[in-house]
Amino acid sequence: NRSWILQKRPEGLVTLADIELREEPLRPLQAGEVLIRNHYLSIDPAIRDWMSERPSYLPSIPLGEVVRSTSLGEVIDSRHPAFKAGDLAVGVNGWEDYSIARGEQLMPVQPMPGEAEQYFLSIYGAVGLTAYFGFLEKGRPQPGETVLVSAAGGAVGSLVGQIARLKGCRAVGLAGSEEKCRWIVDELGFDAAINYRTSANLEEAIREACPEGVDVYFDNVGGEVLDATLMNLNKNARIVFCGAISGYNSQQPVPGPYNFWQILARTVTLEGFLVSDYFERFPEAIAQVRQWLAEGKITFREQVVDGLEHCLDTFNLLFEGANTGKLIVRLAPT
Ligand code: NDP
Repeated sequence: NRSWILQKRPEGLVTLADIELREEPLRPLQAGEVLIRNHYLSIDPAIRDWMSERPSYLPSIPLGEVVRSTSLGEVIDSRHPAFKAGDLAVGVNGWEDYSIARGEQLMPVQPMPGEAEQYFLSIYGAVGLTAYFGFLEKGRPQPGETVLVSAAGGAVGSLVGQIARLKGCRAVGLAGSEEKCRWIVDELGFDAAINYRTSANLEEAIREACPEGVDVYFDNVGGEVLDATLMNLNKNARIVFCGAISGYNSQQPVPGPYNFWQILARTVTLEGFLVSDYFERFPEAIAQVRQWLAEGKITFREQVVDGLEHCLDTFNLLFEGANTGKLIVRLAPT
């Protein structure tokens, strides 16, 4: 079994000095365990957090162990009553050919005709569910409100803007390239887009794109973009703190927003969000997203890269903004 092993805590971008692809024999299954042959591995920004030693919502990946990631695969062998060979399952496993997981920690999945398996790592996986629950539960959008989304050309952000439009809101996206800005406006129906990399004065650019102020800010990036947004919030605005990718590779303590006082001045609600808190309600969200897809009301992009050996270079695309859609690594049958 080939696995990417965490060898040392990365400093900055992850390199081959930090993780190594190793091959080792599989151990036998114990009672309650399931052997999965991974078909698809999820490449997520959060993995960078799990590699660090900072306290977080999951324990750090121990040194010498496989790089943790969600995967989708086929059950090869099972010593758990809920799974049999041939079933498909999603779980928090790792960047590896085969994973051994406790049956109760796996979610069985069944694609409908016409649906690709890997949808359960993208539109029906953490990405779609984060957009759905994060925006609706924490953003509490009302028709007519203005919703601003960062990393809007990315996997989660592109869906948030579309759901905002479906809920009768005005959707404005921040993205790091002209191509992404065009895509979210022309293809996804965002009302406006701002290229935060080329904008000379971001605070001003947000004011122009959101003349009535921002009611919901769905934040995926933190940092300077958050700071500029704070000056454009309406009274009683909601900030959904979904991610802060601008600081994930930072070696220095990340400074808090200079404009943090605006949270008080504008009586803003800032709430952290974790998709795993909504596990019990995943079926409800998948059903709704499935319906929107079938009705042509939302669309999404995946970027599927072949080969376990490409996990690292694929992962680093996230931090360059070079990914076009949800990043997934596909494994060939072994
Ligand atoms: P994306 O597809 O959005 O890819 C990441 C994007 O972030 C890049 O394409 C890039 O877009 C942008 N980015 C990278 N570096 C920076 C930077 N320094 N400053 C500003 N933007 C940057 O990834 P996901 O959709 O998978 O994840 C988006 C966010 O959601 C992440 O923060 C992630 O951690 C979070 N998340 C949180 C969950 C939760 O439960 N809380 C669950 C799932 C995801 P650009 O070209 O625009 O710069």
